[in-house]
Amino acid sequence: MTSSARPILNRRLAEFGTTIFAEMSALAVSTGAINLGQGFPDTDGPEEIREAAVRALRDGRGNQYPPGPGVPELRTAVVEHQRRRYDLSYDPDTEVLVTAGATEAIAASLLALLEPGDEVVALEPYYDSYAACIAMAGGKRVPVTLRPYGSSFRLDLDELRDAVTDRTRLLLINTPHNPTGTVLSREELTAIAELAVERDLLVVTDEVYEHLVFDGAEHVPLASLPGMRDRTVTIGSAGKTFSYTGWKVGWVTAAPELVMAVRSAKQYLTYVSAGPFQYAVAEALALPDTYFSAFREDMRAKRDLLAAGLAEAGFGVFRPAGTYFITTDIRPLGHGDGFAFCRALPERAGVVAIPNAVFYDHREAGAPFVRFAFCKRTEVLADAAERLRKAFAH
Ligand SMILES: *Cc1c(COP(=O)(O)O)cnc(C)c1O
Repeated sequence: MTSSARPILNRRLAEFGTTIFAEMSALAVSTGAINLGQGFPDTDGPEEIREAAVRALRDGRGNQYPPGPGVPELRTAVVEHQRRRYDLSYDPDTEVLVTAGATEAIAASLLALLEPGDEVVALEPYYDSYAACIAMAGGKRVPVTLRPYGSSFRLDLDELRDAVTDRTRLLLINTPHNPTGTVLSREELTAIAELAVERDLLVVTDEVYEHLVFDGAEHVPLASLPGMRDRTVTIGSAGKTFSYTGWKVGWVTAAPELVMAVRSAKQYLTYVSAGPFQYAVAEALALPDTYFSAFREDMRAKRDLLAAGLAEAGFGVFRPAGTYFITTDIRPLGHGDGFAFCRALPERAGVVAIPNAVFYDHREAGAPFVRFAFCKRTEVLADAAERLRKAFAH
């Protein structure tokens, strides 16, 4: 050990010592509560895709270091996916980079594109790795808070414009948005794009829930808007779309200079990863539209089941237009502090949830909101809904 005058964990990471997920998952285990905290499915994705991974392992494809940018089959499949879905064209050799999940794509992008002191404007509440990765890159995060309007959280475009300064290097966007379930509209995204062009900003956009949009909402990739293709780093991932979150296969699509920059950071993080899984994900991306629509429909039904239970229990429910998550308001239940509420919830109701305040810099703005994941088996969600009704409804 070193002298006690100096903390072991460095200053950049000091505020990120432990995550709420560890605390809440431990509570789930010690109380036997149903864990709707962390967002991972409790059933695996398509069997044929798992078999594709087994075949790759057996055939010795990807068992040794795959190429730095990713295996050609996957890069081509990513390009084909972007073309088929969004009419966006990319060169598989210079404009695609395979990463260890979206998590590494986010880290490598920020490490590559930020100088110390650069400001990053990001939508608050944030996915939890954003703040930590901005800090690791020496950047300064500038939150723009999504606020509840009626039944969803929306972006205040004036607040966004006001957040941009001469020191802003990039906008970090996430749509569909975790944890609020907001899918940014074409109008909101157009305003973001116009701002990026006007102020000459780079944009990093996390679109890992691109296939999880409900009720006719449309996912619009930022890169598809005028002036955006060559200033946007688009991040995708197989984990959420194919229900294999443990495989950690993600990717970046962007202009060659941006991909080259991100790769400069990525090569010293993992260098490469998930060799055999890359081949399986290449096959997954080529699944017919029926896979994607059935998956979306299944998740919509799960959302509706849990949302109904939460509403009957008395929560305020923000009906998500996308993602794995429902954000609720606990004030109708007579509570205002999501932390205290979530710490007591396993004992009180036998369910674990996450206080949205952990995703905010402005903790008070997130205090009354609590997030539940619905990417679980129907019987698990029905059980959780019943427990919540019993605990809260009178
Ligand atoms: C789950 C998630 C990620 C991480 O994706 P991986 O591919 O598992 O690394 C990134 N961004 C958001 C918004 C997520 O919800």
